Amino acid sequence: MLLKNKTVIISGASRGIGRAIAVELAGAGANVSFNFLKNNKEAADLEKEIINLGVKVKSFQVDVKNYDAVKSWVEDTKELFGGIDIVINNAGIIKDKALALMEPDDWQEVINTNLEGTFNLTRATIVSLIKQRSGVVVNIASVSGITGMSRQTNYSASKAGIIGFTKALAKEVAAYNIRVNAVAPGFIETDMLKNFTDEYKNQIKKQVPLNRLGRPEEISKMVKFLVGDDAGYITGQTFVVDGGLSIG
Ligand code: NAP
Repeated sequence: MLLKNKTVIISGASRGIGRAIAVELAGAGANVSFNFLKNNKEAADLEKEIINLGVKVKSFQVDVKNYDAVKSWVEDTKELFGGIDIVINNAGIIKDKALALMEPDDWQEVINTNLEGTFNLTRATIVSLIKQRSGVVVNIASVSGITGMSRQTNYSASKAGIIGFTKALAKEVAAYNIRVNAVAPGFIETDMLKNFTDEYKNQIKKQVPLNRLGRPEEISKMVKFLVGDDAGYITGQTFVVDGGLSIG
């Protein structure tokens, strides 16, 4: 199995894309440590689903914005599973508003969850990866961080930041046999889009050459490729999975 005896730590896996990534990597043989913010029931359901795949799993209710809490989650994971091989920074939120109406809190909450959360989990794991001289990091960015999207200055800035972070860290840790890449999804059918009206979703579909929204599994397949040995010569890159949206 591709990831037998590997341990993955992933943020925000109780729902959506993170959940699909956790299931995909567990299906490939990895043990999974994941966190979530509020949704205990979804987290417990995911634990059950992953146990049935015959690997180890543990969920942690930890806010990615809180560095000390993330550090404890990482330490508990290392103790439970004996180490960490793969880090997936996935937890993310939107708080869409025109900049003219955006409150400092709307800005801060998105930057702190998406960008600082990525710093927190990567910072808390990177020394272990460096010491073991191997590891893979995958950061979930967004097309919004490449093309920019109206009413998303906070979100686009956080995701563009993640892409810059990915490139800088890739250069910094390549000598330790650690690869760092990002995936930039387009519009993917998850709870993140739950406040979008059907009319707005139809408008979005018209902008997507493949004429539909994406599925979480279409992101998790890319992540599975990137964490495996077939991607052994790939680092510092951002892979767009968007049905052609960003072609323009
Ligand atoms: P989602 O369905 O809303 O799920 C978000 C996940 O992140 C949940 O598991 C949530 O936990 C967790 N989370 C949120 N804030 C957290 C915090 N402070 N600490 C810990 N966990 C937290 O979102 P999604 O659509 O799967 O998005 C996943 C990633 O893909 C995000 O980075 C997002 O920006 C990116 N992305 C999504 C799309 C899209 O169209 N859906 C497009 C491009 C990029 P709870 O369940 O406990 O709330």
